[in-house]
Amino acid sequence: MNIHEYQAKSLLAKYGVAVPRGHVAYTADEAYKEAQALGGPVWVVKAQIHAGGRGKAGGVKVVKSLDEVRSTAQRMLGMTLVTHQTGPQGKAVKRIYIEEGCDIKRELYLGMLIDRTTSRVTVMASTEGGMEIEEVAAKTPEKILKVAIDPATGMQAFHARQIAFGLGLEGKQVATAVKFMLSMFDAFTALDASVIEINPLVVTGAGTVMALDAKVNFDDNALFRHADVESLRDQDEEDPTELEAGRHGLNYIKLDGSIGCMVNGAGLAMATMDIIKLYGSAPANFLDVGGGATRERVTAAFKIILSDPNVEGILVNIFGGIMRCDVIAEGVVAAAREVSLHVPLVVRLEGTNVALGKKILADSGLPITSADNLADAAEKVVRAVKEAA
Ligand code: ADP
Ligand code: MG
Repeated sequence: MNIHEYQAKSLLAKYGVAVPRGHVAYTADEAYKEAQALGGPVWVVKAQIHAGGRGKAGGVKVVKSLDEVRSTAQRMLGMTLVTHQTGPQGKAVKRIYIEEGCDIKRELYLGMLIDRTTSRVTVMASTEGGMEIEEVAAKTPEKILKVAIDPATGMQAFHARQIAFGLGLEGKQVATAVKFMLSMFDAFTALDASVIEINPLVVTGAGTVMALDAKVNFDDNALFRHADVESLRDQDEEDPTELEAGRHGLNYIKLDGSIGCMVNGAGLAMATMDIIKLYGSAPANFLDVGGGATRERVTAAFKIILSDPNVEGILVNIFGGIMRCDVIAEGVVAAAREVSLHVPLVVRLEGTNVALGKKILADSGLPITSADNLADAAEKVVRAVKEAA
């Protein structure tokens, strides 16, 4: 799960991470009032969307008067911001952040993430702040410092000093940077984050370090123990069908092909997508209905698949292991009736009670094509879509 920059900064501040003062605003008048309360003389108006690269796309503006705060806010709210992270359709700006302007001496990069190869939190830092870290990694990997943290000790001051010296910090900057990093590590572990990225981390004219931008991603599997984090979710930033799928316990990811897939188990779902490609078409989605493919779930899955206007055919590929094939077939038939199916449907069942399952499909009177194996199913659905076109 992702959150906005202003939410990330307020969370991090609770753990002692230094951030500029600022307030979120939803209207130009609110922006004006918040700016007045902050006091100036320089403010930064920042579009709040779940994507980086806002600066280059016109989503971060430094302004020097309250009237300019208002006019910039007016312009930014409602605009669609296209950055290299939003995709070509961009993202609508519905919230802005009014922040005090910072006297920047240097822009650095600081990130923490879970490194799956070492099973540790890795701290990454670079003198190349403000740039995409992926670009730095590709062009000048020697400019990235990495320190892996042993979970038994957590981050220690010496780890932080190693990074501070590596970044060329000196004098009082080192002490504030060490406090910054230790606080950030506390936040990372306490919040079950998967990534925290501060880009840029700045050295100010006063010689302290501060987070000018903040991105926090959370481990979805740990969200159940962070109701406060869950409450920061901005549904406007998430795909509505993926949200609906989440409500029904379905793992759904929309893709851009034309064959809707309903499968149980992630591995089988991947194989199904592959074989659709092999037979010359492309999957419209990844959808794993999980182990307990109940009638309610199957119906919800059908509705989600059919809400995608690109879907021209559906392939159901379910292995009845824990679930029996007859129960699944009943679910498929009931769901197909309920959603008034208007595209070809091919069903491949295998496993417990498969013969009974197939009989239920055949006796339903619905235009359901039964398939005997994975290749047969893929071939049939691709052919049915071509014939229907
Ligand atoms: P993004 O990464 O989406 O482009 P950032 O928050 O990193 O957005 O802002 C882009 C740039 O704008 C920063 O690298 C920094 O130079 C400048 N900036 C951002 N916030 C402030 C601020 N409070 N004061 C001064 N400059 C800022
Ligand atoms: Mg940034």
